[in-house]
Amino acid sequence: MPKKQFKAESKRLLDLMINSIYTHKEIFLREIISNASDAIDKLSYLSLTDDKVGLNRDDFRILVKLDRDERTITVSDNGIGMGREEMEENLGVIAHSGSLKFKAEHETPEDVDIIGQFGVGFYSAFMVSDKVTVISRAYGSDQGYKWESSGADGYTITECEKDSVGTDIIMHIKPDSEEENYSDFLETWRIRELIKKYSDYVRFPIRMDIEHTHYEETGEEDEHGHKKTTPVTHVEEETINSMVPIWQRSKAEATDEKCVEFYKERFHDSEDPVAVIRVNAEGLTSYRALLFIPSRAPYDFYSRDYKPGLALYSSGVLIMENCADLLPECFRFVRGVVDSPDLSLNISREILQHDRQLRVIAGNLENKIKSELMKLQSSDPDKYDTFWAAFGRQIKYGVVSGYGMKKDLLQDLLKFHSSNTEKLTTLADYVSRMPESQKYIYYAAAENLRTAAGLPQNEQVKSKGYELLYLVEDIDEFVTQMLFSYREKEFRSVSSGDLGLESTDEQQEQKETEDKSRELLDFMKDLLKDEVVDVKLSRTLVSSAVCMSYEGEITLEMERYFRQMPGESGERVRARHVLELNPNHHVFASLTAAFNEDREKAGRIARVLCDQAKLLAGLPVEDLAGYSESVCALI
Ligand code: ADP
Repeated sequence: MPKKQFKAESKRLLDLMINSIYTHKEIFLREIISNASDAIDKLSYLSLTDDKVGLNRDDFRILVKLDRDERTITVSDNGIGMGREEMEENLGVIAHSGSLKFKAEHETPEDVDIIGQFGVGFYSAFMVSDKVTVISRAYGSDQGYKWESSGADGYTITECEKDSVGTDIIMHIKPDSEEENYSDFLETWRIRELIKKYSDYVRFPIRMDIEHTHYEETGEEDEHGHKKTTPVTHVEEETINSMVPIWQRSKAEATDEKCVEFYKERFHDSEDPVAVIRVNAEGLTSYRALLFIPSRAPYDFYSRDYKPGLALYSSGVLIMENCADLLPECFRFVRGVVDSPDLSLNISREILQHDRQLRVIAGNLENKIKSELMKLQSSDPDKYDTFWAAFGRQIKYGVVSGYGMKKDLLQDLLKFHSSNTEKLTTLADYVSRMPESQKYIYYAAAENLRTAAGLPQNEQVKSKGYELLYLVEDIDEFVTQMLFSYREKEFRSVSSGDLGLESTDEQQEQKETEDKSRELLDFMKDLLKDEVVDVKLSRTLVSSAVCMSYEGEITLEMERYFRQMPGESGERVRARHVLELNPNHHVFASLTAAFNEDREKAGRIARVLCDQAKLLAGLPVEDLAGYSESVCALI
């Protein structure tokens, strides 16, 4: 029979598998058993609503059989099974396995490591087998199918007999080589050890034939008058795993280490999570939850492929793999499991989504996640910053979205760069450092840290000894605007023109100087009317000649953000620019002199200053040639 070929990537992976190093090989059993357990999950879920399944919860099991003579390990399940198409689709290509998708996107020379850390599903059988046979019958069908492959050269699928629904995976174990003793995997003790190690919490019994030896009296006596005995062996099928899922165990049993191991395997992450959260709630709605905060964003986190949500179980039966309703959008990065005996199972998944109990659980988890993050923030700031680097953006989105519905929940989680410390600061820490005289939380917003720290308007704030937050992400000013204030301290952008720093005397003085320069300012305002809505004498500048500020709701940073967006909205959103001149700068003196003697020169200076202010604010200068010409003329 002609062999079907694996897809190209699958072939590459198979090669990898076959050549992986020994220490990784043992995970094949975990992978095969997990698949069996998933298949049973599916059928056991169906059996809740479909009488035709004909199996009870207690009937489901996974059998592991060793045959030393044939050199085979057989893992049989009575799960949902596969038909021809499913075999073709699931075992013939690789794209189905989440971890492999990961691998494809993150090509790394350490391929073998990925195998060890993630496991790669069904294909891992080839790490220990030179041939794999899959015999399966899908639920609802009478026909069995046999899939067979000896590795990278392809596979065959043929019809065969199978008298019950489910799947047998038959692994033909490789002969021993100089480096590797594959025969170990045919030993009961070894397989039993692997089941205990990797699959102990699988919720269905994993059963194996175990040999027992006991001594029976022969009826004779030896020369000392003792009764003679003889060893008798008999084989008994036993359940090897303890079956209690890890989230149902006490903390003493399910140590953090074990939970982390569970997390990595279940959620395909090679990194330890930054936090493990256990919840054991009793009351009107009882449930247990085991949640994890990953330390980095999965490669698809900010894409549409990412499926947020928690796995939802009811008394150990998987109801939904990704129940999004259990997590608010702002915490969509959290992974984990929720198990509640109180959920009524005989309702459709659609109805379940609107279940009141589910909402209660979701509400509790939201608070729990927040408080765990707060704990981490104070107990291990570096770890928190790792979390923040991965998911800070998501938290900020959370503040801004839904009209700020979640801002009270999230504001304490925020961290920003600051003029005060190398490290990021929370708003609470910033406020605690504010001197009594300081009215506002000051910030400088720009494209990057360097520009933000170098804004000319910063000087005055700093000269007062006040701290500045540096906002460098697109979304940051939307966040401060949504929050408006923190602990009753309003946010104030250094680019807003009014920093609230002068005394009334100073303000009066300012007004007088402005009146004196009224004519000049009006001249400039008229000249630059397409660029700015106003020209003012600055109350914020110390050593710079000019800066750009704004009036109204839309800040300069927001304008910059919208400029980057494609389409019309990007065109339309503009801040109302205000050009500020430093009356104490020598340039201002030159400008005033020119204004009195040579209006054309004054106009040129005015344009150059306006463009400079734009550049300092990170805004584009449209007429670069004109700018350059004016500068040259002035020189
Ligand atoms: P993953 O488990 O990551 O999806 P695998 O390579 O382990 O990737 O398995 C691919 C698919 O093959 C599974 O998603 C499942 O649909 C199917 N499969 C594997 N083993 C079984 C089994 N014992 N019973 C039913 N389907 C199975």
